[in-house]
Amino acid sequence: MLSRLSEDLTPSEIENLINLAAAYGILMRKDRIHYTNLPLSLFPTIFPAGPVNSLIALTTDFNSLMYNICQDTEFLYSQLRPITVIDEYTRNLMEIAEKTPLSQIFLALNRNDFFYEEESRSLKQVEFNTMASSFGAMATVTASFHRHALGLLERKLPGVDPSKVPEHSPLLGQAKAMLKAHELYGGKGQLMFLVLETESNYFDQGLLEIEIFKQGGVKVVRATLADVYEHGSRGTNNELFYQETEISVVYFRAGYSPAHYTTEAHWEARELIDTSNAVKTPNIHYHLAGSKKIQQVLTELGVLSNFIERGKAEEITRLFTGLWSLEQDLNSDFLENSRETCQEYVLKPQREGGGNNVYGQDLLKLLENYETDPKVRENLRQYVLMQKIHSKINENLVIRNGELERIETVSELGIFGSMVVVDGNVILNEYNGYLLRTKVKTDNEGGIAAGFSVIDSLYLE
Ligand code: ADP
Ligand code: MG
Repeated sequence: MLSRLSEDLTPSEIENLINLAAAYGILMRKDRIHYTNLPLSLFPTIFPAGPVNSLIALTTDFNSLMYNICQDTEFLYSQLRPITVIDEYTRNLMEIAEKTPLSQIFLALNRNDFFYEEESRSLKQVEFNTMASSFGAMATVTASFHRHALGLLERKLPGVDPSKVPEHSPLLGQAKAMLKAHELYGGKGQLMFLVLETESNYFDQGLLEIEIFKQGGVKVVRATLADVYEHGSRGTNNELFYQETEISVVYFRAGYSPAHYTTEAHWEARELIDTSNAVKTPNIHYHLAGSKKIQQVLTELGVLSNFIERGKAEEITRLFTGLWSLEQDLNSDFLENSRETCQEYVLKPQREGGGNNVYGQDLLKLLENYETDPKVRENLRQYVLMQKIHSKINENLVIRNGELERIETVSELGIFGSMVVVDGNVILNEYNGYLLRTKVKTDNEGGIAAGFSVIDSLYLE
């Protein structure tokens, strides 16, 4: 409905909206000194208010659930150990986890991702991100932009109400949680953002850095794993120092993919951070709790209700879609019909950051010789198999790669949560806002920085 309006937009109105988006700071870095619009929808996307608000109301329960899981290292390790036999990356993480005591000060900044499934008219979980849950700051300014844009076009949009784009600020919420952790650490030193060498998503992190400075007068130092290896050290009381400055909180915006560890030095830097007394978001146990394998075992109500009260577990289960382990052998029904059924599933390894999932023909290829070759079966044990979610299809006008296009879309809704716990006492447990990522309905992957998705906002009806 909103997108139909685009036919009536004049070129100067469109140009004005694109400039306005940039003025709100919805930008990405092209190279060291050039910036461009972050891929963006011109209009928000309509979502049903009821299911979204019910999901938001569960944020604090999801926070508690994932906290409880990372505290239960016996459970975590027993679930992940079979995967470590095949997957070196999970093995490396687990080795560090086993050396690391549970954190005294726990800080979570997470994002719980969903599609709105057309057929069941309900939200279904894609994954729970415990690490580097990005775009909180960009989502904050994008909602402001969309409200503004709808307001500007009011006369062309009879019946459209800009206030149906909910106000929210993951930016404030995340800055507040980080500052709380800094204060509990003793209010000394600086925060560290652990980042990638080449970071296109600089503005998202930059706004957070500004907010932390504005709210708390605390400085942020940006460092890569290689920088930490070179300039990081351990103090006499197990503090983390970086270039002689004590670090209170480390916020990981890198380190979630094996591609970020190209030399042994990167792993040493990771271990130094994890085993130090600095507050880590995430700590290594919470990182592991975000594995696809853990998501899969939680679909069993019996397992889920070990970590959260039964009534809540039942509510949460309704948000899950089919997920299976491949540790047991696939049943023959699945294999016989795999040519057709493969289109209905996604195979996921223990990875984050997009581009790792296996679909359709590639999935079929991995299943070749499944029954005759034990190596094929062995290799598949590192994955989980997930039912495809058929999301509601909408239409929008989007700016991607500098071009304005009208596309048929699907949208992935992420709910931001934050939590601070000290010695088992919950200090903060909050909903911080949302991220809406919208993509062409036929695209499999969903990254914004990767050029697949655009950033969007909710229009709740
Ligand atoms: P990653 O940790 O790499 O982000 P995700 O589980 O989020 O892994 O998958 C990446 C993308 O693949 C998602 O953003 C979504 O677009 C798509 N996807 C993942 N799971 C499903 C599913 N069950 N049904 C449909 N699309 C999916
Ligand atoms: Mg994802």
